Formats: sequence, C-alpha cells, structure tokens
Amino acid sequence: MHDAWQPVRTQKEPRKKVKPGTWWVIIRISEIALKRGNRQAFLRTLRQNINQALTGLPVGKASVRPNRGFIALGGPEDWPAVNERLSTVFGIQNYSLALATEPDLDAFEKGFFKLSNEAPSSFAVRAVRSDKSFPINSNELERELGGRIAARTGSPVNLDNPGVVYRVEVQPEAGFVYLEREQAKGGLPVGTGGRVAVLLSGGIDSPVAAYRMQKRGCTAEFIHFSSFPFTDASSREKARELARYLARHQYHSRLHIVPFGEVQQRLVVTAPAPYRIILYRRMMLRIAERIAKKQRCHALVTGESLGQVGSQTLTNMASIGSAVDSAILRPLIGFDKREVVEDAKAIGTYETSVEPDMDCCQYLVPQRVKTKSTPGEVEQIEADIPVDELIELAMKGIETEEYTWPTP
Ligand code: ATP
Ligand code: MG
Repeated sequence: MHDAWQPVRTQKEPRKKVKPGTWWVIIRISEIALKRGNRQAFLRTLRQNINQALTGLPVGKASVRPNRGFIALGGPEDWPAVNERLSTVFGIQNYSLALATEPDLDAFEKGFFKLSNEAPSSFAVRAVRSDKSFPINSNELERELGGRIAARTGSPVNLDNPGVVYRVEVQPEAGFVYLEREQAKGGLPVGTGGRVAVLLSGGIDSPVAAYRMQKRGCTAEFIHFSSFPFTDASSREKARELARYLARHQYHSRLHIVPFGEVQQRLVVTAPAPYRIILYRRMMLRIAERIAKKQRCHALVTGESLGQVGSQTLTNMASIGSAVDSAILRPLIGFDKREVVEDAKAIGTYETSVEPDMDCCQYLVPQRVKTKSTPGEVEQIEADIPVDELIELAMKGIETEEYTWPTP
C-alpha cells in the first residue's frame, strides 16, 4: 500500500548542505490534509503563506516539504518576531528555533549546551533520523546522547514527564538541535479551501465564525451591513477593525460595506413588526449572495448559533435561508455563547467586539420577535415589497475597503 508519509522529494536537485552554527526555524506541518493529489498544492500554498506572514523580516524564504518546513534566520535574535508571525499561519502543527550542526554525536552534544547550559531537573532525548545514511538509528542516538547529557549535567532521565526535552533531527542538509516546540493553531493553509463570504457584524460571533472558516483553509470576503447615517458609525468602525484584524490569517482581506438603512426603512413600512428582523436577514442574504457571486465565493457564512436569540430558532433560520440558493454555513451553530466568548478572547477579536455600538439590527427592531415562522408566510409579506429594487439600491452604495497584513 502506498504510504502517504513516505518522504517525497519535492526538489529535483540534491539538498544543499546547511552551514553548521546557523539558526533555523523547523516547522512541523498539520498532517491532516496531506492527501495524495492535494499535497503539492497544500505545500505550495503553505509555503506562500509562511513567506507572506514573514514579509519584512530579515529571514530566508521558507522551504517546505511533506513533513517539515525550514526557514533560515540571521540569528537567534530574529526568533521572537518570527515566532509571533508564524503563530497566525494555519496548516502548521508546531515549530521550533533550531541550531544547525555537523551530523555527528559530538556536534549534537555541543549544540545542546549552546542552547542551554543549565542542568535540568530531569530530561529526555528525542531523535529523528530522516537521513538514513546516518550510521546509527534514532533509538541508539537517543540512548547515546542521553548518556552524555546525564554525565555532563548529573540530571536524571525521565521519559514520561521530562523537565527538558533535548531534540535532534538528522536531516539530509545537516543535523538540527532544539529544545522547545511552539504549538501552532493547526488547521489547513488559507487558500486551499476556497472562498467564502462572511456576514460580519460588529458583534462577538461573526468574527469567530470567520476565523473558523479561515482555519479550515478558506479565504474570507467580508460583508457588513450598516444603517449609517440613520445610526452612528460605531458598528461600521468595529467591522473595519475586525476585518483588518482577521487579515492576519489570510494576508489580504476585503470588506464590503453595504448601506442598509434605507432598505430597512422601506421594509418597516410594509412588514408587521415581529417579522422585521426576519425580513432584514433575508435581504442581507440576498445582497450577500450577489456580492459572493461577483467575488467567486462558494458559500455564505454567518455567526448564528441555534436558539441564541429569537431570530436564530430553527424555523427562523429556515425562513431566512430560503431567500437564497447559496449554501449557508454556520460554523457556530452548536456553540454555547460562553464557548464563543472563550474563542473570541483566544483569537483576539473579543475586545473590539464588546465595544459599545449601534448595529443595524438594533435599528427599527421591535421588542417582540416572531420565533416561529415559515418561508411561505414570509414570502407573502414580501409580495408587497420591491425586493429587486431594494437590492439594487443597496448594491449601488457599496463601499469596498482592502486590508493587508503584515502592514507595510
Ligand atoms: P454577532 O455577534 O455575529 O453579531 P449575534 O449573536 O449578535 O451575532 P445576530 O445579531 O442575530 O446575532 O446576527 C446573526 C448573524 O447575522 C451574525 O452573526 C452575522 O453573521 C449576521 N449579521 C447580523 N448583523 C449584521 C450586520 N450588520 N452586518 C453583517 N452581518 C450581520
Ligand atoms: Mg449581532
């Protein structure tokens, strides 16, 4: 059987030797999507994303192969900035600051003590031998180096819960020694999953929904509906801030700001109060679908979660969704609010999301929201509304803004 994990050469020429004493970042790649067929595209996109994320830093271009990526640093002083940037790149499992050495035991030992010369409370050695021409296997390598470290530091070996892990990899280019592994976010490289249009309010949920899609490899096109100048500009400003922030996972992002106040005013005249929010949402989806098609997006994304508010009951979501043909993805559908808040804090969007604002949905919304509706009754109400005309009106006023990350 073909083993997807056999090292596959992506470069035709033999690997160039790496100079001992130079500093590198070694990247371990999320394994999940390294499927046959997609693998080359996955690796190419990941390499491009890493290079994008490192824009402006004095480091080499990334080289990426099926189970490892490498970045040449000018020195260990480059590490903090590189570390921060890599932490946003999806498709990476973890990564380490590593020192290149001659591929021999003395050099590995010396390298370890260059990384740290403190005696650890306990330790373990983990070795990877990718270059099979190296004379001893990884078990022997671990045992031999373990003996040397114990003799030198007097520290005991503890394989289950070591105070320090000394790691060595024998790669075709060189040996690499390192200690810590930084956990990355996992996921799939942004750009491998297609494009989605995210309805981005200024609230807590939709930025988290966007992040979830980015993490699965999607590029997000952001759409915000604004009632400005009927409301203040606070919600629009928050959407801008969030679209700018979320650009860090996809390097370029676009925000389409749709003027929605007039549409709402027209709906209010015709629609019974308890149905208003449902009608607003249907119009939002229709307009979003138009934008999505233009921008070659394959699905619409919202931050809805089942039962969170009156407009997010199962029947209302069905009535709202029936306004469009597009697939609607709701990555937070099964989340509790508390879980979304935790995510928002971890992602870094929470602070912006909780700033006070006046969302378009607080504008002209009645106290009472109909919690059970059917597509049929909603369509009947809409029969008296010039839907296409309202869509055109909104489409004409769209303003589009672009953000890049890292900022030049
Ligand atoms: P959020 O925290 O994302 O605002 P919410 O819990 O406040 O969500 P609603 O306000 O009912 O829920 O909105 C549900 C979803 O509809 C949002 O997650 C978002 O995807 C979309 N949405 C709501 N208002 C807007 C808006 N002004 N612009 C763009 N999308 C919106
Ligand atoms: Mg909201």
